[in-house]
Amino acid sequence: MKISFVIPVYNEEKGFRDFYNKLLLPELKQLKYDYELILVDDGSSDKSLEIIQEIAEKDKHVKVLCFSRNFGKEIALTAGIHEATGDAVMTIDADGQQPPKLIHEFIKKWEEGGEIVIGVRGKYEKHGFIAKLGSKFFYKILRMMGVKDTVPGSTDFRIIDRCVADEYNKLTEHGRITRGLMDWMGFKKVYIDYVYGNRLAGKPSYNFKKLFQLAIDSFVSLSTTPLIIFGWIGVLITIVSFILGIFVIVEEYIMADPLQLRLTGTTCLSIFITFLIGLVLTSQAITALYISHIHAETQGRPLYIVDHKNSRNLNERKAKKA
Ligand code: UDP
Ligand code: MG
Repeated sequence: MKISFVIPVYNEEKGFRDFYNKLLLPELKQLKYDYELILVDDGSSDKSLEIIQEIAEKDKHVKVLCFSRNFGKEIALTAGIHEATGDAVMTIDADGQQPPKLIHEFIKKWEEGGEIVIGVRGKYEKHGFIAKLGSKFFYKILRMMGVKDTVPGSTDFRIIDRCVADEYNKLTEHGRITRGLMDWMGFKKVYIDYVYGNRLAGKPSYNFKKLFQLAIDSFVSLSTTPLIIFGWIGVLITIVSFILGIFVIVEEYIMADPLQLRLTGTTCLSIFITFLIGLVLTSQAITALYISHIHAETQGRPLYIVDHKNSRNLNERKAKKA
């Protein structure tokens, strides 16, 4: 049995040695399994690559996968999972914020049958008001949009079984949020609460702009609900202005203003324009729905994911690992 650890590294020259020597190695030495460390250098512009190459020279457990440029953490994690050969794959940040001390607890849950063991932050943490509100809002919107698989606070500090990694490796979409995709895949999930620590050194590379982009990516790649909301608003405006229009024509022009409303041409015109806006919104949403279908097709997600462990007597070709 072997465990693969995938660690994305981007400009971590200040803290990585300490992370490896002081936090990670002592825990790895206690493992009862064989292990490999896949360090993915995500196009670092500092000395991170040299540092991890140096480590790989001395430690044969370490593999270095070096990107030609910065592709982002999500892609770095994906590349590491592609490369992993273990019976389980654990992903962990290189900055010490996801405490390596907990890997034993993750492995234990995996041994007990958890196929995706997910680290959840937040329960024991004290956040700033704004950060708390932002994250609450994000998950609330995600839920409203019908993405129910993601538990608030889920991080990509997680361990996945080989069967999950094999299925994950079949996914081909480009704009991806690793944890969102894994949550979408199903399988038996187990959660572990933990406290997100402080960075050993350096600065986080996810600033507000990048986080905002990530949030937008999550919404767009996981849900079509925003389109549908605008479509319904369009339909509502069309219906209301249509009814108003009929009312005005009947009241003013057919029945000669029995309610003494003295409606003018301007009223008629504004109702007509509102009606047209409603139509435009509706037709835009319909076009967008077609686009969302095209979008879903181009993502090329599999129609379904088979749990091979629990399936029986399938024909060989399907049961084989990817
Ligand atoms: N990271 C990466 N590519 C990037 C940005 C970050 O591989 O473009 C790595 C980084 O080295 C770290 C992990 O992803 O190991 C988490 O990054 P960071 O600490 O900046 O994010 P946060 O802790 O705020 O989630
Ligand atoms: Mg971090």
